Amino acid sequence: MPPMPSPRPLERVAGAHDAAVLAIARRGEPVSRAELAEALAVTPQAISKILARLMERGLMAEAGTLVLGPGKPTTLYRVVPTSRRAIGLHLTRRRLHGVVVDLTGEIIERREQEIGAPPPIPELIPALAAQARELAAQGPGELLGVGLGMPGPVDWPAGVYRGTSTPDPWRGAPIRALLAAELGLPVLLDHDSRAALVGEAWSQPDLLRNAALLLVEDGLGAALSLEGTTVRGAHFQAGEVGHTVVRMDGAACTCGRRGCAQAEYHAALAAGDEAAAARVLATVVLDLVRTVDVDRVILGGRTVYAQHETSMDAIRTALHEGFAAEPWVHVEVMLSTRGTDLIAVGAACQVLEHEYGLPQALVGPG
Ligand SMILES: [Zn+2]
Repeated sequence: MPPMPSPRPLERVAGAHDAAVLAIARRGEPVSRAELAEALAVTPQAISKILARLMERGLMAEAGTLVLGPGKPTTLYRVVPTSRRAIGLHLTRRRLHGVVVDLTGEIIERREQEIGAPPPIPELIPALAAQARELAAQGPGELLGVGLGMPGPVDWPAGVYRGTSTPDPWRGAPIRALLAAELGLPVLLDHDSRAALVGEAWSQPDLLRNAALLLVEDGLGAALSLEGTTVRGAHFQAGEVGHTVVRMDGAACTCGRRGCAQAEYHAALAAGDEAAAARVLATVVLDLVRTVDVDRVILGGRTVYAQHETSMDAIRTALHEGFAAEPWVHVEVMLSTRGTDLIAVGAACQVLEHEYGLPQALVGPG
């Protein structure tokens, strides 16, 4: 499959409409044309065209009729969850966690394995492919491809892992192209925090218009949604809060500098000082909210779950004190709803979003 060309403007509008209808329908209850027309602020005739397109592709189906008083009964429509599948892989330095999901993002099956020390690329790619193949054997529906979320920075359009520390056996590797060639399937590579934000947005539809997701794994990073759009930045590394300095001349960081938030956070945890670690997260969140003005902060990632109560309390206190003179600023702080599956599920949902019609850097082999 050749690289997907950028959609033309009209195709992009159609894609966004298809995606919006699917996003409403996947929440569960069957929907009518009128409900969809109202939600999208378009005419019922336009909805008919969108539904015809989606039904022709097998993504949606009729789901019976509803009699609402006199006149013609109303036809209802639903998503066909078993029509498509996507695989999501979450790669860290030590672990590989994968899921296969249906068209609504529900997990069909998951796999997890330790990979020891970061393996060199010629060993990493077959390990990723082996887990993907195991997951590919599970569940019905056409398999669309594989999403891979990993710590960044990641050159998203190019599908290349960039990395920040040296030496790093993965630095500069075209991981998307290598994995696509190995599997013979389209692959999408993204920063773990952005995959996580997509996964969370699927769980909390319409609530994350202005939101920051703080991901606490081996590193510390954030993904941002501002006015409904995922922010990537000029170099695709918006939200790299782990390397913002929280203490001058502080703990040495893997990036070569001192006092970075992620170095201070892990130094505090290593010293057994959970409260100090939580204060580092709180400082990062307060600065982030000050900079980008979000109304929701989601905390996720394997490292934070063990001490999430301390962390959430510290963040809420910092926001309360930090905005004491601005009572109109209200920021909801919450823990991710997807647990340790968050990044893998999000990476799979990014592949589904491409099928839904949203532009995503999903690229086939060759
Ligand atoms: Zn650093």
